[in-house]
Amino acid sequence: MSGRLFVIGLGPGDARLVTPEAQAALDLCTDLFGYGPYVDRVPQRSGRTAHASDNREEVGRARAALALAAEGRVAGVVSGGDPGVFAMASAVFEAIEAGPPEWLALEVTVVPGISAMLAAAARIGAPLGHDFAVVSLSDNLKPWPLVLQRLGAAAGAGFALALYNPVSRARPWQLGTALDHLRNLLPAETPVVFATAITRPDERLEIMTLGDADPARADMRTLVLIGTHETRRIGRGEGLRDWLYAPRAARASA
Ligand code: SAH
Repeated sequence: MSGRLFVIGLGPGDARLVTPEAQAALDLCTDLFGYGPYVDRVPQRSGRTAHASDNREEVGRARAALALAAEGRVAGVVSGGDPGVFAMASAVFEAIEAGPPEWLALEVTVVPGISAMLAAAARIGAPLGHDFAVVSLSDNLKPWPLVLQRLGAAAGAGFALALYNPVSRARPWQLGTALDHLRNLLPAETPVVFATAITRPDERLEIMTLGDADPARADMRTLVLIGTHETRRIGRGEGLRDWLYAPRAARASA
């Protein structure tokens, strides 16, 4: 079996943030699989077939890519950001584990990408410069009480938070409920950032506090950053966006 499978991270949107390694892997692929908008980000070229699919068909998409790789083709599965962060790499390994034994012999390469939290943090300063936790607010693949439990544990332990999947058309209330939960645990002046469509033409960044964060201002392209009582805000005056950063040293919490 000579087939190969690449699981490729395309970064947050800007083509300059597709790594050279990701570009080299894309160039090798005969077939590309992924959620439509991600596949559309890769310029078409002759000799490569695009197999775009719906957002919820992750394991089916992974199986289709693996089946083609097993036939000797070079299949690529693309994700936005990093493929290992709430994305296709896990679906590929789930499919391999449950699949036919010959898939175990395939050459599988996961090509990392710049995840949304890193791109968003870079825009605003260094809000993830010390310990932080990453939580998806989607309850499609885990029960909602577990989301709240993890948020509470992480906030209670003093971690800054990066929240993925804050809202979608099918999940309109989760972010508001999550923010209310955090308001019970953290000071109202805790900095909050809504970073939307980072590195894309319609990028939007809003710095707020936990007390006044309005969930209606987030959409499915938003990454939410929640600071800690130690997060510093450097005010820069009229017309200039403030910087947020986590100091290099953290103290024991009270
Ligand atoms: N694998 C991706 C995450 C996929 S989950 C990564 O590593 O970035 C989809 C969620 O990622 C979105 O709901 C949003 O919370 C976040 N996201 C993806 N791209 C983004 C961008 N350009 N700006 C802000 N958030 C983004």
